[in-house]
Amino acid sequence: MRQNAGRMLFGGRGGRYSFKVHRSCAGVVEYGMGEMTFDVLVIGAGPTGLACAIDAQRAGLRVVLVDKGCVCNSLFHYPAHMTFFTTPELLEIGDMPFSSPNQKPTRSEALEYYRKVAEHYDLDIRQYHRVESVSGRDMQYVVHMVDRFGRAVELRSRKLIVSTGYYDLPNHLGIPGEDLGKVAHYYNEPHPYYGLNVLVIGGKNSAAIAALDLWRHGAKVTLVHRGAEMHRHVKYWILPDINNRFKNGEVTGYFESTVSEITEDTVVLQTPSGEVILANNFVFALTGYHPDFEFIEKLGVKLDLEDDRVPVLNEATLESNVPGIYLAGVIVAGERTNEIFIENGRFHGGLIAKDLAEKLLAVAV
Ligand SMILES: Cc1cc2nc3c(=O)[nH]c(=O)nc-3n(C[C@H](O)[C@H](O)[C@H](O)COP(=O)(O)OP(=O)(O)OC[C@H]3O[C@@H](n4cnc5c(N)ncnc54)[C@H](O)[C@@H]3O)c2cc1C
Repeated sequence: MRQNAGRMLFGGRGGRYSFKVHRSCAGVVEYGMGEMTFDVLVIGAGPTGLACAIDAQRAGLRVVLVDKGCVCNSLFHYPAHMTFFTTPELLEIGDMPFSSPNQKPTRSEALEYYRKVAEHYDLDIRQYHRVESVSGRDMQYVVHMVDRFGRAVELRSRKLIVSTGYYDLPNHLGIPGEDLGKVAHYYNEPHPYYGLNVLVIGGKNSAAIAALDLWRHGAKVTLVHRGAEMHRHVKYWILPDINNRFKNGEVTGYFESTVSEITEDTVVLQTPSGEVILANNFVFALTGYHPDFEFIEKLGVKLDLEDDRVPVLNEATLESNVPGIYLAGVIVAGERTNEIFIENGRFHGGLIAKDLAEKLLAVAV
């Protein structure tokens, strides 16, 4: 493995921070651990976490990111051939242009882009480190992690930014048979389902896109949705496509309907005309995801139970009720996961960095 070693100076304050760096062959910078205390530790290296780290670093702070998976781990797990709904410039972070020949970039392009941005800013990213808990207090936090092999790792930081997203925890249906191996809450590729009976549960973009992709690649697709029609948030260029498939009988749609049971060979639907039992080989339950509220509460952050479990925080700075712990990205909206995406979450870093600089650099002088 090729390794470049060097000495890294962080800008803004005349190279106040200086330490040894190693660049792995994958291009991710790894710093010697030592006993150093970081100014800011960002939990979650998704688009929001990267944007927060860049803004904090540009303010002159010493920053480290940790992620339980790879850089942009959630995007990595999106459907292999997905296309974003957003034009490239609205996904940009760190003032780095995102150029794409496509009006809407693909998952691969986005992964390339965010990796390049991380490399450009020499971000210190500890991949495959899952944060299990946090101890200490403001200015003296200790973040407890485990690596891929279950080994314990600790990092110290004055402040924390939590940008852990929502894609790890699917909304479960709570019905018999949901735990069967043929049921998935994530859709990836259509090829394994050729000629088979596939049920897609859900009425939003993910369900519509998966149903269309499966049908176009030879699966026999049924979609079931509890609403009277596909959700109003389905993108304007996807909606006529899926609705025409229903009209032509190419995809069978059951609306105002729910799934009550899944067995090895069937699915049981409750429809306005009564119970329907369908032969079935695979189920994609694409009914959304939610942030890890347990993790957030374990940090001491309060959730507003009257308001979709929105975390209690200062809207101007995104600092939570726990001093020194900031929240960023989709988790800021609690259960309303359709309110914050990359397009608007990427600006959270600016708000947080401003507050951090005022607090930390004032302390340091
Ligand atoms: C199919 C699909 C298409 C989408 N298309 C668009 C679009 O076109 N435009 C748009 O703006 N948005 C889009 N979104 C939404 C957007 O991708 C998310 O809102 C965005 O990824 C949220 O960014 P984030 O950084 O807050 O969270 P994430 O991208 O989810 O990043 C969170 C990171 O935290 C890490 N993490 C979680 N827990 C821990 C832990 N305990 N320890 C360490 N690391 C942890 C995860 O591994 C992950 O890398 C789409 C979403 C989906 C599912």
